Amino acid sequence: MIPGPVAVRADVLAASAQPLRNHRGPFAKKLYERLDEQLKEIFQTRQRVLLLGSSGTGGLEAAVVNLFSPGDKLLALPMGAFGDRLVAIARAYGADVEVLDTEWGDCCEPQRLRERLAQDRQGSIKGVLLTHNETSTGAANDLEALARARGDHPGLLVVDSVSAVGASELKMDEWGLDAVVTASQKALAAPPGAAMVALSERAWQAAESAAMPRFYFDLRAARSSAEKGQTPWTPPLSILLALERAADNYLGEGRPSAFARHERYASAVRDACVALGLLLFAKPRAYSPTVTAVCVPQGADAKALLARLRERYRVVFGGGQLRLDGKIFRIGNMGALEESDIVRAVDALESALRELGIGGAAPGAAREAATRALAERAAGRGRAQAAV
Ligand code: PLP
Repeated sequence: MIPGPVAVRADVLAASAQPLRNHRGPFAKKLYERLDEQLKEIFQTRQRVLLLGSSGTGGLEAAVVNLFSPGDKLLALPMGAFGDRLVAIARAYGADVEVLDTEWGDCCEPQRLRERLAQDRQGSIKGVLLTHNETSTGAANDLEALARARGDHPGLLVVDSVSAVGASELKMDEWGLDAVVTASQKALAAPPGAAMVALSERAWQAAESAAMPRFYFDLRAARSSAEKGQTPWTPPLSILLALERAADNYLGEGRPSAFARHERYASAVRDACVALGLLLFAKPRAYSPTVTAVCVPQGADAKALLARLRERYRVVFGGGQLRLDGKIFRIGNMGALEESDIVRAVDALESALRELGIGGAAPGAAREAATRALAERAAGRGRAQAAV
């Protein structure tokens, strides 16, 4: 239960074990076409969703180098380690990045973005860098509100949705997003190795004149190959086969059900942690549907706790990153998880804490809180459906 790479269903793993085929033959052409169709629905776009042989970071790099030129002024709104990484990528390619900081654990204020862009009357800000869901802090943005805050400013909206696509609503075309990036190993529940990037019409126009250096990640090459049913370079074919299967499973479940499932699991994890007397790192208004960041209790050793969970209970949570190392641990709820996995994990957390002499929750408190949250959310879903 780390926040990616996630647990993957057996049928998805089996799909990746198919015999390898010619990546430029008719079988592969059909695979790319099918993936494009599936991903268009998942991204809610009419634009082609390009497949890259890389992790999510490669997708972010592709978005930056294809849209901008060295010296371009960009406005970044980081709220954790991945937002900082996007800033670092842009700076590595010579962008002049202004940072509107948000306290880690919180989400970005659309009003601050609106006000900053309103000051930029000449339109000198060429792009806005946003993180949909900050996996390092367990905080999610209201992406629709941020997109609206851009208004008619010409800056291109670049969205890192690596840990959100599939788990929360994203309407690329309707919200006017210019570049959306995700990766295979998160909520879409496939193995790692493929990044997905879609660009708006405006972003494609910018790609013609962008002057940052690019070769492997030149999205113009990816697009012209895709038009012929190919990829410019050898793609991670086995991963794409797995992704096709995972996307089939995902669309079979349906986007609204998948969003509700992530919300339900995340709320069960949060309620269980609170029942154990643990503090959540993210602010309530920013709670993420895919990852819960939990503060390590005073005097406790995060590494010892995670090791105990792993070794005795076979439950794996993520640690804190960068300045949060040792201060938080992270419970991911994306991927092939059942409700029983959530309950078992929080039960294990309760036991491990007790064994390490931390906290004094009543036995069974975590299980009870999680089970209640799962049932309440399921009942809520039933009511919503009945209303429809
Ligand atoms: N952005 C976010 C929000 C992420 O969660 C991650 C990975 O966890 C990345 C970017 C980087 O993706 P990758 O590790 O696939 O390169």
